[in-house]
Amino acid sequence: MLPLRPITYQETDVQLEITPDLAQLRPVLRRFTEEVLEPLALEIDRTGQVPDRAVEVLREQGYLGMRLPEAFGGGGHDLNTYCLALEEFSRSHRVFTLILDGSSGLNPIAIATYGTAAQQTKYVAALAQGHMTASFALTEPEAGSDSQAIRTRAVRCDGGWRLTGRKHWISGAHVADVVLVMAVNDSALKARGGITAFLVDKGTPGFSVTRVDTTIGSEAIKLAELTFDDCFVPDSAVLGEVGQGFQIAMHSLTHGRLGVAASCIGAADRLLEMSIAHARQRSTFGKPLAERQAIQWMLADSATELSMARAFVYETLRRVSAGEDVGSAASMCKLYASEMVGRVADRAVQIHGGMGLVRQFPVERFYRDVRHYRVGEGASEVHRMLIARGLLA
Ligand SMILES: Cc1cc2nc3c(=O)[nH]c(=O)nc-3n(C[C@H](O)[C@H](O)[C@H](O)COP(=O)(O)OP(=O)(O)OC[C@H]3O[C@@H](n4cnc5c(N)ncnc54)[C@H](O)[C@@H]3O)c2cc1C
Repeated sequence: MLPLRPITYQETDVQLEITPDLAQLRPVLRRFTEEVLEPLALEIDRTGQVPDRAVEVLREQGYLGMRLPEAFGGGGHDLNTYCLALEEFSRSHRVFTLILDGSSGLNPIAIATYGTAAQQTKYVAALAQGHMTASFALTEPEAGSDSQAIRTRAVRCDGGWRLTGRKHWISGAHVADVVLVMAVNDSALKARGGITAFLVDKGTPGFSVTRVDTTIGSEAIKLAELTFDDCFVPDSAVLGEVGQGFQIAMHSLTHGRLGVAASCIGAADRLLEMSIAHARQRSTFGKPLAERQAIQWMLADSATELSMARAFVYETLRRVSAGEDVGSAASMCKLYASEMVGRVADRAVQIHGGMGLVRQFPVERFYRDVRHYRVGEGASEVHRMLIARGLLA
């Protein structure tokens, strides 16, 4: 029998890869994250603002628009590569994953997929290269998880539509150049052909940002309330067909859920790494924390749950990339990974003691930021509902 040797965390966990060829890319992303993004993350924490430089460095390195076809100014990368980038960047700061999503996520992909030639020309390359930002406005005060219950109305008029209603908690909408707004044009049909998607440019009369909210997370991440008061938009602002809005909104759900799951894995990986480092260097009662079983068990639980999440998310990504219908697996990935990172963050705070609760150290910010993941992109309960529906169908 071969002698047993200690196995390091990196060997058991990070060596899992989505595909073998992506193993080459991980160290490149890791180095960029540590050397270029991390100093910017500290600046974001200090100022509560996203510096222009954050978008510039991501553009310079070709990470903006990475999932869009090259014809649209994108990088033409696949979902696996995109999720690996999300995972690595979220080891530094959630803001970087939001910038990536803005240039490669739901909005540019919806416009590239459903847009007219004029809409594609106006928006897609500019979004892909970070010269423009877009927000996606579905949620309303009376309609969150139950998104089919939206009330914002779209009424036909001469040459276009008049929008009336209120959206809230719309990420980045206070600064967005354009908002993809879901509105009801036929209340009898609702999600079955009665909701239409509109591209509403900043400054359109009747459209205003009426409140900006900060959350439990980083100050740099802001949500906006939007009011549409008899806001006229021409027919050319309709994205896709009239009545196709809900289909457009649901179009990239699987990819969105896997993107969130990948981001949770990256954040958990960094939290565990920080916890291991702290347990090694901090001594109490004459011994490093790392020698205490209470601490070791927390590390072991976090590493185990992280590895489970990583294996399942990577397997699901491989199946999606192979064109398989993964059923509710993407929901399971999002549900498990978002709850897993919450537990890992909680243990990281505990292991760091006071340092886990004080603003100047990153663990505290990660703890707050990762809480978003259990509500955004479908709350945990909604994913449990979807998974159960699949089981009982
Ligand atoms: C950080 C952040 C960013 C966001 N960005 C955007 C954005 O860019 N665009 C956008 O349109 N929206 C955005 N949202 C809104 C988000 O989509 C909603 O918050 C989410 O869908 C939940 O809706 P709600 O907040 O109204 O909660 P509710 O729907 O009121 O739910 C409250 C709680 O009840 C649970 N619940 C609901 N229904 C059931 C049920 N049937 N059974 C059991 N439990 C249930 C939910 O899971 C949740 O825990 C964002 C939210 C956050 C926090």
